[in-house]
Amino acid sequence: MQTQILGLVPPLMSLFFAATFVVLWRAGQLKRHVLGFGIAYALASVGYLFTHLLPPDSFYIFHTTQVFYTLGSVTLIAAVCERCGQRLHLGSMAVVYGLSALMLAVTVGVSDDVGPRLIIVNVGYGVMFAMGVTTLLTARRRDVVDVAIIAIMAFQAVDFLVRPTMTLLFEQSIPAEVYRQSIYYSLIGLVLAVKGIATAMVLIGATIAEWTRGLRESGERDPLTGLLNRGAFEQSIRSMLPRAQVEKRALSLVVADIDHFKQVNDIWGHQAGDAAISNFGELIQATVRGCDVGGRIGGEEFCIAVWNCENEPAERLAERIRLAFARLQHDGLNDDIRLTASFGIATARSGETYRSLFARADEALYQAKSSGRNRVENAEREALSNAEPDPEPQPVELKQAAAGG
Ligand code: GH3
Ligand code: MG
Ligand code: MG
Repeated sequence: MQTQILGLVPPLMSLFFAATFVVLWRAGQLKRHVLGFGIAYALASVGYLFTHLLPPDSFYIFHTTQVFYTLGSVTLIAAVCERCGQRLHLGSMAVVYGLSALMLAVTVGVSDDVGPRLIIVNVGYGVMFAMGVTTLLTARRRDVVDVAIIAIMAFQAVDFLVRPTMTLLFEQSIPAEVYRQSIYYSLIGLVLAVKGIATAMVLIGATIAEWTRGLRESGERDPLTGLLNRGAFEQSIRSMLPRAQVEKRALSLVVADIDHFKQVNDIWGHQAGDAAISNFGELIQATVRGCDVGGRIGGEEFCIAVWNCENEPAERLAERIRLAFARLQHDGLNDDIRLTASFGIATARSGETYRSLFARADEALYQAKSSGRNRVENAEREALSNAEPDPEPQPVELKQAAAGG
C-alpha cells in the first residue's frame, strides 16, 4: 500500500510542474518554449503513471513508457534549445529512439532480466540529453541562467548514462516480476524526484527571469512600432559606443524621418498616420540584425544603431529601407499613394560621444530634407550627394491624389 502511494508521487509532482509552466506561459504571455516545458512534464507524468500502474512483467511496459519518456525528454530538450534560439536536430533524436527501441525489442524477446532493458533505454535518454547539451553550447548568448540550464541538462545526461549501469553492477540481474522490489526501483523514485524538482526549479527560475525581463523591456518599447523608445535607445547606444571602441568595431548611426508627414495626418487622419509609423517600425525590425538597435526617437523619427558596420554598408542598409518604404502600401491611404522617408547616416569616430554622432547624422538628414527628401545622405562624405531624388510622390501630389486629381 505504502509503495502504491509513494509510486504516485513522481506523476503527481510532474503534473503539478506541468500546470505551473502552463500557468506561467498563459499569465505572462510568454514564448512557446515555456508551454513546451509544461508539455514535457505532462508527458513525463503519463510515463511515470504507466510505469507505476502497468503490470511489471508485461511485455509492453518498456515500450509504452519509453514512448512517453522519449516524447517528454525530446520536448524538454527542444524547448530548452528554442529558448536559446537553437534548433534541436529532431532527425538525430528519432534515430536514437529507433535504435534503442529496436535493441529493446530484441532484448525483451531473449531475456526475462530487465537489467539490459534499463541500460538500453537510459543510455538512449542520456545520448538525447548529451545532444541537447552540445546544441545549447553552440548558442551565442550565455548568461548565468543559460549556464544553469546547461548544467542541469548535463546532469540529466550523466545520470542516464551512468546510474543504471552502476546500480545494476550491485544488483546483477532483476527478473521482471520482482522489478518493483529491486534496489533499482527504490532508487529510481528518489532520483526521478530529485532530477524532476531540480530541473523544474531551474526552468521556473529561468521563466520568471524571462517574464520580468519582458516586463522591463515593454516599459522601454514604443507600443506603436515595437522599437525602443527614445530613452531606452539612447541608453543602448551610449553603452554600445565604448564597447565598439574596446572591441575595435565600427558603429554607424542611421537617422530617418518620414517626409511630409503632417500632410498625411491632415489628409487621411491621425489613424492612417499611425499605421504608416507602425509600418516603418516593422520595416526597420525586419531589416536590421539582432545585434543592431532600432528606436523611435520622435513622432515619425527613427534611429538605428548599426553594430559592427562600417559606413558604406550602413549607407546601403539605409538605402534598402528607403526603397522598401517607398514601395509600401499603407492602410487608410489611397491605394496609389506611397510615402517616402529621408535618411542621414554617420559612423562613430574614435572617442566620439553619442551627442556628437547624433548631431552629425541629424545634419546629414537635414541635408537630405533640404536637397529634395526621399534620399540618404552620408555625414562621412565630404561632398554630400547631389543626385536627383527618386520620382516618388511629393506633397503636392499627395494633395492632388487625395482630391482625386
Ligand atoms: P518633413 O518632410 O520636413 O519631415 O515634413 P513633416 O511634415 O514630416 O514635418 P515634421 O517631421 O516636422 O512633422 C512631424 C509630424 O508628425 C507632426 C505630427 O503631427 C506628426 N506626428 C508626430 N507623432 C505622431 C504620431 O504618433 N502619430 C501620428 N499620426 N502623427 C504624428
Ligand atoms: Mg519629424
Ligand atoms: Mg517628417
